[in-house]
Amino acid sequence: MSSPTTVLIAGAGLGGLMMAILLDRAGIDYIVFEKSEHLRALGSATNLGCNILPLFAQLGLQDELHKISKPSSTVNVYNETMERIGHINYEEYISTCGYVSRTMARPDLHALLLAQVPASKIQLGKKIQEVCQDASKVTILCSDGSSFQGDLLIGSDGAYSRVRQSLFHQLDKQHLLPKADAESLRACHMSVLGITRPVDPESSNVDNIANDNNNNGNSVSPQPSALSATNALSANVSPNPQAKISSCTTISLSTSSTTIASTSMDTTTTTTAVTAAVNLSEWGTESSDAIPEDWRNFPCPIGGTMGDLFDQTPREVVSKVVLEEKLYQTWYHGRVVLIGDACHKMLPNSGRGAVNAMLDAVVLTNALYEKVVLSASVENVQEAFEEYYKERYPHAVAEIERSKRMARVVAGQTWFDTLVRKVFFTLLPKRFQDNSYAAMLTYRPQLSFLPFVIERGSVPALPQRKSSRPGKGFFDARAL
Ligand SMILES: Cc1cc2nc3c(=O)[nH]c(=O)nc-3n(C[C@H](O)[C@H](O)[C@H](O)COP(=O)(O)OP(=O)(O)OC[C@H]3O[C@@H](n4cnc5c(N)ncnc54)[C@H](O)[C@@H]3O)c2cc1C
Repeated sequence: MSSPTTVLIAGAGLGGLMMAILLDRAGIDYIVFEKSEHLRALGSATNLGCNILPLFAQLGLQDELHKISKPSSTVNVYNETMERIGHINYEEYISTCGYVSRTMARPDLHALLLAQVPASKIQLGKKIQEVCQDASKVTILCSDGSSFQGDLLIGSDGAYSRVRQSLFHQLDKQHLLPKADAESLRACHMSVLGITRPVDPESSNVDNIANDNNNNGNSVSPQPSALSATNALSANVSPNPQAKISSCTTISLSTSSTTIASTSMDTTTTTTAVTAAVNLSEWGTESSDAIPEDWRNFPCPIGGTMGDLFDQTPREVVSKVVLEEKLYQTWYHGRVVLIGDACHKMLPNSGRGAVNAMLDAVVLTNALYEKVVLSASVENVQEAFEEYYKERYPHAVAEIERSKRMARVVAGQTWFDTLVRKVFFTLLPKRFQDNSYAAMLTYRPQLSFLPFVIERGSVPALPQRKSSRPGKGFFDARAL
């Protein structure tokens, strides 16, 4: 039996595509609206943590994921003289949860998810401008003049979500918006990202690449005294399959974090400053010619300089991105709900943003499956959104804190960051890290209406309720 409910999904990024895949498994009709005319993911390395890996196994996508990724065994942090000052060994946690996180090129992960969604389910070139809703329907208005109606709308349109802006504008007019939600995103860093062509170690300054079986993430975080007056840089590189290397060179916008972007409560009069910030903040191509000399000469943690990597990176895959953070309190209202960066934008250093966007998709799908599959009445929708928020919000709080801490430890550029790094790597008892990591790993939600993947590892996942109604594909889903 197919569900009479129709879901509109805003944005075909990592969260939106995962949402589409899961709604399909739940037998709920959906359509994705993406502003780009051509879907092409930019970025560098993405790490998928263990929390989400059981879902890939449950969906039968584990083998495909393994083909495009490598296990991420360690993170090494170096100072400006390439002395290793910190080390995290993720392999130690395999026995705990039975999984080790995987590193891949972000475009490859995007392509894997995209391949699971029928092309007929994605409308390209649909830039959502405004959202309207009443008790029975939600409508999106796009910049080309088209409009679409559905029973509910999922805003997975990223950090500068237009769905969020439009929703918050309406809530503000009704005095229903918490003050904190009217405040700006904090822009903390700006990064230049890219992925090299396959690198030949024989003819390259960078060594230890093609044969890197250690699957290290490597960062250089100089002491503030070693930084130039104008540029406080850090760099992170990690090898992908096929001897390609993901690189990310980062500048602090200000040591105390800068606010350059606003959520703009007015949907019609966006200021120039906001527009500039929005443009900067989205994944866009940048010519590597524009990369300043200080950035080119910055030491590369696997040998040579970052310039050596820029030179081996095709120009069309170089992008510049502002790294912001903010946790919103309001995640839903009426028939509109937010997931991913649209409601919790975290700094990328803990490698958790995409994982959390996908965890949102799992928990929201389970709630929709229970509550709105048969009828999207306003009460049912409300109950589903409440259940989703109640489960996910506390995790988002913890993840924002974790990403803040890791940003300091791995890439912080102030004296205080240097101190935190020292404490983290040399003074903090290892059991603190072990306990914090083990606690995070117990949260491994799966789709409640498909057979659960058999538990691996010594620490069981947090208990999860099974649906009393087996879903579409229940009997042929692969339980790996
Ligand atoms: C440098 C860097 C490294 C990172 N590394 C990791 C990592 O290792 N692990 C990890 O888990 N996360 C990582 N992240 C975070 C991760 O990339 C994001 O958290 C994740 O992509 C969020 O997914 P999303 O679907 O919410 O938003 P996005 O992936 O940003 O997708 C939003 C989509 O919405 C579309 N859109 C925007 N506006 C509109 C509109 N008005 N109408 C229609 N469509 C619209 C966009 O074009 C886009 O396709 C990293 C981020 C950065 C910047």
